[in-house]
Amino acid sequence: MQRKVLIVGGGIGGLTAAIALCRKGFVVEIVERDPEWSVYGVGIIQQMNVVRAMKEIGVLDAYLSRARGFDRTTIFVGPGGAKEASFDTPKLAGPDYPSNAGIRRKDLQQVLGDAARAAGVTIRLGVTVEAMADDGAGVDVTLSDGSAARFDIVVGADGIYSRTRAAILPDAPRPRYTGQWVWRYNLPLPADLDGIHIFAGPCNAGLVPITDALMYLFLVSEEPEGHFQPVEGAAAAMRSRARMPAPQLVPHLEAITEDAGVVARPIEAVFLEHEPWHVGRVVLIGDAVHASSPHLAQGAGMAIEDALVLAEELARHAAPEDAFAAYRARRFERVRHVALNSLKVGEMQMGLIPPFDVGALTGQTIRMMAGPI
Ligand SMILES: Cc1cc2nc3c(=O)[nH]c(=O)nc-3n(C[C@H](O)[C@H](O)[C@H](O)COP(=O)(O)OP(=O)(O)OC[C@H]3O[C@@H](n4cnc5c(N)ncnc54)[C@H](O)[C@@H]3O)c2cc1C
Repeated sequence: MQRKVLIVGGGIGGLTAAIALCRKGFVVEIVERDPEWSVYGVGIIQQMNVVRAMKEIGVLDAYLSRARGFDRTTIFVGPGGAKEASFDTPKLAGPDYPSNAGIRRKDLQQVLGDAARAAGVTIRLGVTVEAMADDGAGVDVTLSDGSAARFDIVVGADGIYSRTRAAILPDAPRPRYTGQWVWRYNLPLPADLDGIHIFAGPCNAGLVPITDALMYLFLVSEEPEGHFQPVEGAAAAMRSRARMPAPQLVPHLEAITEDAGVVARPIEAVFLEHEPWHVGRVVLIGDAVHASSPHLAQGAGMAIEDALVLAEELARHAAPEDAFAAYRARRFERVRHVALNSLKVGEMQMGLIPPFDVGALTGQTIRMMAGPI
């Protein structure tokens, strides 16, 4: 008999898990709390392991039709903007595909949502889990719309403030504020932007192509805990965070003029390093178990890979707990590398730890991410 899976959360990880599980023959339902299924209007960096994963779940062409692929990463340092390194990363999806991509979050959700629905996933918006009772043979779930159903497995893909995590692991670590914010703004794509451009210190920023016409500029700042940024004045506030920007950034910073176009978010993190990632038939993926700071641009990549590995292990093992143990074992080192090292980069930027060789860390991360999952 086909096994039934409930996925809590229709974000990047939940949608990828739904597609991957359907492809393995599971019957999948997603409940997504947000009735509007809204996604904020900026882009996201997706590195080579994500491009490979998009191929794996059969959506790569649709995905790239909305994204901007690129092979090259260039790093500039200091207020003078001296070029420190420029390199191509491996094309893991094959020679005909780009290594990396930038994509608008809305477009990524559209591609994954369309693929999930086409695969037969039921997606219920504005619905969440009210109660779960796992009796060892299945999980009885009561939903916020008053309905109830029994599932073989429940996947908590409900993000950094996961209620699924709180329900099964009430003593697990809570998300914490790291001391930094990320500010982002969409701008026209310059003709000579041949990939991602990263600017390191004192203005920590970057330019990321996301469509054939658009890029986004991101900027990392240090803010006191509890900082609030109103929409009014957001463009000036973002510009003011650029400390001694490299000359290449200046014209782009001057083009940040629309308050409503600024997307500013605190960086928060959580990592279940010492805890289990499942209890009984309920398992966690993505930010619910390891939300990292974006300094290595791998948070979504880790959520997507979690989804693929979980689907593989569930297809391989009859007993869910065996599959969950194998899933955690396969994921742990990659996820730990991203979670801990992303935080370290931010801590160095804030002067909390001595400077270290970020170039070497980047090389190590690329080699690790290019390896099999
Ligand atoms: C500023 C910033 C920049 C980033 N940039 C990058 C980047 O460039 N590259 C990268 O790879 N990663 C990046 N990340 C990380 C990336 O956004 C996350 O790792 C990724 O979104 C995690 O996916 P997820 O599916 O686990 O969680 P989410 O994307 O948070 O999705 C969770 C979903 O669950 C829903 N939900 C929540 N609670 C419930 C509930 N109780 N019931 C039902 N549904 C619920 C939510 O509405 C949401 O749709 C960045 C993060 C931040 C904060």
